[in-house]
Amino acid sequence: MSRPATGMRDVMPAGDGWSLPALSPEDMEYLRELGPLLEGHAARIVDGFVDEIARQEAGQAILKGPKTREWFKQNQRQYLLSLTRGCTDRNYLVGWRQEGGTLEWLGLSPRWYLSAYAYYYATLVELVVADLSSDPAHCGRVLAALHRRMVLDLRLMIDAFAARGPSHRVESLEQQMEKMAAVGQLATGLAHEIGTPLNVISGNAEYLLMDLPPDSPMVEELSVIVRETKRVSMLMSQLLKFARPAPPSMDLVDLSALISEVLSLLMQEMAKNHVELVTQMETLPPILGDANQLKQVLVNMILNAIHAMPGGGRLEISARAARDALVLSISDTGHGIAPEHLPRIFDPFFTTKDVGKGTGLGLSVCYRIVNEHKGRIEVDSRVGEGTTFKVVLPREDLHEHEVTA
Ligand code: ADP
Repeated sequence: MSRPATGMRDVMPAGDGWSLPALSPEDMEYLRELGPLLEGHAARIVDGFVDEIARQEAGQAILKGPKTREWFKQNQRQYLLSLTRGCTDRNYLVGWRQEGGTLEWLGLSPRWYLSAYAYYYATLVELVVADLSSDPAHCGRVLAALHRRMVLDLRLMIDAFAARGPSHRVESLEQQMEKMAAVGQLATGLAHEIGTPLNVISGNAEYLLMDLPPDSPMVEELSVIVRETKRVSMLMSQLLKFARPAPPSMDLVDLSALISEVLSLLMQEMAKNHVELVTQMETLPPILGDANQLKQVLVNMILNAIHAMPGGGRLEISARAARDALVLSISDTGHGIAPEHLPRIFDPFFTTKDVGKGTGLGLSVCYRIVNEHKGRIEVDSRVGEGTTFKVVLPREDLHEHEVTA
């Protein structure tokens, strides 16, 4: 980053080779003067700022949980009031780096945060002008100090995001792909070594069963062998599918039709588990995708949602078209995901389900498929309240295709 052109007297080192204009003691004085005014309007301004963030697609998911929203508001209130205090030492810079990390962890990209920051700027300028209109010269000086302070923060924010954001994300995506490739190799080997003898065992047990009189004491034991070997065979074939996924076969897909199809398949499962279904579907434009694979994503996520509500609950499915993507949301009122589990749910074989109930492969398969569709998955979960998975699939330019699905 280049050194900012400024007429300020002092500069302070900010990061790698660039410097920032420092605030003068007079600036600090003008800013301090704004304390009571900001205090009186902080709640309204922060509400507006959070609404601004929530207006944006990813912001909605991030701030949906009431606790996160409350925490974020507190965090922003503190920030707003800190505008009236000094900010010229190194701790301030370090603090901003950490803040960048927190915002990135929350999933707020610089684009969303910075565009909402423009709201702060405009609102504060309006507030100061209205409050000090009787003394235009003084008002001008206060505004200049506020402007300098906010521009300083903007630069620090960009620096903080640049230092934390992109590299962290790229790394985790690569790590995830590596993990999946390693598991894939292992699974292929296992499936071959175990699959064949397993088929022989279950075939023989079935053959013996056919010859036994129904009241033989062996029937029970042999049935257990058949049942259990079939379960392991199923697991092996899931593993194989995971290890050697067919490349996606792209065509035009009507996502609403796909969702209806999957929901009618799972109706019985929902009824059995006392799950109330609520759908909110917009008319969606077709997207380019592999219908079977996308169906798999839906089935996995909806089944997970149903199983997260063992005592019944509410399943909300919605689909809408954003400017450059389709956003599919699957929300449940189930037990939620513990924060320490959240970073692991897309790992192959990670499961919290009882032995025999979960393979831990569902979400890693979803991850791979959505990734191959150049999309992304977002998760928001509160323990004891529920979970929302969002699948964001990019809209392509479809002019050259004909809708066939
Ligand atoms: P599996 O369902 O076989 O356990 P997945 O990869 O589909 O494997 O899911 C991994 C884990 O993620 C689950 O065991 C569960 O702990 C968690 N999980 C996924 N979806 C939900 C959900 N909707 N609610 C709560 N936990 C979930």
